[in-house]
Amino acid sequence: MQLAAVGSSCRADSCSCHRPEGDRYLAVFHLVHHLAECHTEDAYHYGRAAATLAVFLAERTAFFGAGAGSAGPPDWALRWTAALLLRHILQLVCNAHAPTKLVPLPSDGDGDGGVVQLSEQRIATAIYPSASYMNHSCDPSIINSFWGNTLIVRSIKSLSAGAEVYHCYGPHYARGAPSERHRQLLEQYHFTCDCEHCTRPELAHHLERLNALRCADCCGATLPVDEAGGERRRCLKCRRTHCYSDRLQRLQRIEAEAEQVASAGGGSGDRQVVCRLDELLREAAALAQPSHETVYILHDMRANICTRIGDLTRALESLRPNLASAEARYGADSVELGNLLLTTTDVLMLAVREARTTETRRELSDELQRLAENGLGIFTIHYGEWSPAYRDLRRKLADVRLEQPT
Ligand SMILES: [Zn+2]
Ligand SMILES: [Zn+2]
Ligand SMILES: [Zn+2]
Repeated sequence: MQLAAVGSSCRADSCSCHRPEGDRYLAVFHLVHHLAECHTEDAYHYGRAAATLAVFLAERTAFFGAGAGSAGPPDWALRWTAALLLRHILQLVCNAHAPTKLVPLPSDGDGDGGVVQLSEQRIATAIYPSASYMNHSCDPSIINSFWGNTLIVRSIKSLSAGAEVYHCYGPHYARGAPSERHRQLLEQYHFTCDCEHCTRPELAHHLERLNALRCADCCGATLPVDEAGGERRRCLKCRRTHCYSDRLQRLQRIEAEAEQVASAGGGSGDRQVVCRLDELLREAAALAQPSHETVYILHDMRANICTRIGDLTRALESLRPNLASAEARYGADSVELGNLLLTTTDVLMLAVREARTTETRRELSDELQRLAENGLGIFTIHYGEWSPAYRDLRRKLADVRLEQPT
C-alpha cells in the first residue's frame, strides 16, 4: 500500500479547502484521517477493505476507463486508488455524519390508547466538510438535524461573537460517565476532552448525582467515595460515609420485580399490577433520590399500564415526575424530554376528552398547551418543523383548542 499517498491533513489556513468557493473534493481530501494514531489491527482491516475495493473497481467496473483493456489499469493507478480509498475510509471514521429521519414505530396492536411512538432511523453516512471543522464538547452548543441530505446546524445556547461552536460527537454528558466518554473519544477521535463537564468535579458527577441514594442518617444525597464508583457513599449533607450495598441490591431487586410484575399483567390483573408498582415505587423513593433511574423506570411502566387500562389520572401522576427527571437528566432541549412530551400530550388529549367538569377540562387543556409548546421548541431544534413529531404536536394544539370550553 502506498501510504505516502494518504499523506498528512491540511494545516494551512490559506488552503482553498477552507473556503466555501474552494475545491469541493479538496475540502474532503484535507479532512483529518488519524492514520498515525490508528491501531495497527484497525489500519490493517481498513487497508484490506481499500485494496479489495480498488481491485473491484478495476475488475468489475469501467472506473479506470475502457482504455485499460484486458490488462487492467497500470499497477501505480491501482495502488494510488487503494491509498485514496484508505484515506477516505479513515476520514469516514472520524468525520462522518449520519443523516437520520424520524419514523413512527408500528403500533403493537394491543390497544396503546392511540399513543404514537417515534424512532430515529439512520438513512446514510455522509461527509459534510464544513461541519467537520467543529470540535467536540460533551455539552455542545449546537444540534444537527437533516432536511433530506441537507445538514442544518442550530445553536441551543447563546453564543458571543467569536466564541467557538462545539458539536457533540456522540459521547454526551447526560448519556455516559466521564471515564466512558473519554474511552470512546480516544478510541474513535484520538483526543482527550477537556470540556467543563469533563473537568469540573461538580459537573463530572452529573449522572451519579441524579442516581444518588438517600443517606441512611439524614436522607440527603450520597455520592460514591472512590472514583470508580463502588458501594461506599458519602452524604453531601451530613458528610457521613456508609456502605450502601444492601440499598443498591434492594433497588436492583425492586426493578427486577417491577419488570416481572408488569410483563405478567394483562386483563383483570392490571389493577393489581398497578397496586404492586405503587408499593415498589414508595419503597424505591425511600431509598433513592426522585431522579433515580429505578424510580424513572417504575413510573414509566406504571404510566404505560395505566394508559392502556384507561386510568389516565394515574398515568399522568407518573408522567409528570418523569418529565422533571428527563429534563434534569438530559436537559431542557433534549430529544428524550421531547419524546416524553409527545407521550404525555397524547395522554392529556385523551384526558381532556374524558374530563367530567369544565374546570378539569380547562386545567388539562392548559397543561397540554404548555407542554405541546415546549415540545414544539425541542423538535424544531432537533428535527425541524417538517418532522412528524412537530406536526403531531401542532395537530394536538389545534385539536385541544377545538375542545376548549367556551
Ligand atoms: Zn486544505
Ligand atoms: Zn467532555
Ligand atoms: Zn446524611
